[in-house]
Amino acid sequence: MSKRLDGIEESATFRVADLANKLKRTGKDVISFSLGEPDFDTPLHIRESAKKALDEGKTHYTPSAGISELRESIANKFKENGLEVNPNEIIVTPGAKQTIFEAIQAVLNEGEEAILFEPAWVSYGPCIKLAGATPVGVPVRDEDFKPYDLVEWITKKTKMIIVNTPCNPTGAVFDRSNLKMIADIAIDHELLVLSDEIYEKILYNGEHLSIGQFDGMQDRTITINGFSKTYAMTGWRLGYATAPKKIIDSMLKLQQHSTSCATSFAQYGGIAALDGPQECVTDMVKEFKARRDLIVDGLLSLGIKCNKPDGTFYVFPNVSQFGTGADVAERLLRDAYVAVTPGIAFGPPGKDYIRISYAISQARISEGLDRIQKVL
Ligand code: PMP
Ligand code: GLU
Repeated sequence: MSKRLDGIEESATFRVADLANKLKRTGKDVISFSLGEPDFDTPLHIRESAKKALDEGKTHYTPSAGISELRESIANKFKENGLEVNPNEIIVTPGAKQTIFEAIQAVLNEGEEAILFEPAWVSYGPCIKLAGATPVGVPVRDEDFKPYDLVEWITKKTKMIIVNTPCNPTGAVFDRSNLKMIADIAIDHELLVLSDEIYEKILYNGEHLSIGQFDGMQDRTITINGFSKTYAMTGWRLGYATAPKKIIDSMLKLQQHSTSCATSFAQYGGIAALDGPQECVTDMVKEFKARRDLIVDGLLSLGIKCNKPDGTFYVFPNVSQFGTGADVAERLLRDAYVAVTPGIAFGPPGKDYIRISYAISQARISEGLDRIQKVL
């Protein structure tokens, strides 16, 4: 086996989801608060657009960077984020995860360091390690999961800072002052920023800000987004990024030699998603908000400490009064068939927490809360 994979764990999010599915297949009624994926169907007009593309024979390889019509729609979309970009500074990939993988491989060298705010999503660290670099976890504040310090973690080896707002797993939304602090440090220390904005639209309070639009940042920022969360398109595998052309060109080399391109007809669905009506997004976010209130109020009424996050479809309660997050996750699955992800999967500061993905119906959330109450 390749030494590069030593020290790389399997993805905890998929591991718990697989465990839950296995139990389901044995006939158990599992409530799955594990994988972060919207339960809604992809909106009809998006599906129709992909079907039409299939029927019209759009079934061949596309340009590796993505079809030009989609890259134009994406360039137009980035204007909402205050980013003026040329379609040749955009790459379309099979999922945002692939974009993140390519971006990290494209810029990090062996021995360099990349900073991530922990708790952090499970795949950044492994991507950094696969590049031969070292992930450096910087803890966020306990009370609101926002970054408070960074400068003491910067070394001569630091090359990049990863920003993920709204944040998986905490649901925290970084405000202007949080992002300004990060931008100032990136500029002072000549660092790159990878800004993962995939939960941009799953937002209940405040505003989403792209760090790339801050003065002096566009030339050092890789902005990543995708269709999975906003348009309930997880299985389509479609993501995208913009970055300085030099970085996009390097990512493109990786893509040409690995996946070639994103699926042709999925890209036509992507155009319909970005250019079509956005009410479907508003409706899904409204439902997510009702679910967030239900789960947070329910957990609080059980005496479990839990923030009310401003974005995403995750809550990250502190369960330390019942044991570590890993103990609690195990008990919930074993004794109540409730699947959650242990907080430790998102880095050491997550040890006392569990992540609950509430992208399931309100009826199932209520049933899950009842079972949690019985077990804890
Ligand atoms: N970034 C974050 C923070 C995520 O939670 C996900 C979800 N899988 C992704 C990126 C990748 O999404 P996808 O590959 O489905 O576009
Ligand atoms: N992003 C989702 C999650 O965190 C899907 C799984 C994954 O990509 O890790 O559960």
